[in-house]
Amino acid sequence: MININSKIAQFELPYLPYSTSDLEPYISEATMEVHYNKHHRGYVAKLIQALEDSKYEDWPLVELLARASLLGDKIRNNAGGHFNHTLFWSILSPEPIKPYGKLLNQIEAAFESYESFQEQFARKAMSHFGSGWAWLIIDSDGILQLTTTANQDNPLMDVAEQKGYPLFGLDLWEHAYYLDYQNNKADYIDAFWNVLDWTEVSKRHQDALLNIASKIT
Ligand code: MN
Repeated sequence: MININSKIAQFELPYLPYSTSDLEPYISEATMEVHYNKHHRGYVAKLIQALEDSKYEDWPLVELLARASLLGDKIRNNAGGHFNHTLFWSILSPEPIKPYGKLLNQIEAAFESYESFQEQFARKAMSHFGSGWAWLIIDSDGILQLTTTANQDNPLMDVAEQKGYPLFGLDLWEHAYYLDYQNNKADYIDAFWNVLDWTEVSKRHQDALLNIASKIT
């Protein structure tokens, strides 16, 4: 399991808790190899290099995201790229658990049903133009929201139009799906549900609820 808050995950390529072929046929080994070993590794290397040339070297990753507007494009893009991909690997699994418990209840309350939630998420992701990410977030009032961000931005950044704590994100860059689905983004989004693991998503939901409660009381 990847703990993105742990020190080791701050500025290192995280250990992948499955092999690059394990998500087939939904995400191919070829895609995983280039995506994890080339793209993500590149974001980490460029982030470290950009931080070395800056006065933000000691800032934790979440702090870099929260103040992304201050940092210039190189740190913003690579800090986002590192965080987003670390989160992405952690919510995927070859043996995914279906949605359950409190989070499923909240999804059904907010989106009528799990199926309707999936449709609305797909519509949101399809309507995003160009590179970016589609997200399920929980906002500071504890409300579930669907949103997208451009490039490697994310909802933790001060620059995000809709801010919140990401429960999961789907990579909408062509590098995430082009080898497997070419221009059929809708098929890629459909396939994603087969490898999305709600264990990790539910843990993040639980953490967010505790965090929101501690701020209110
Ligand atoms: Mn990517």
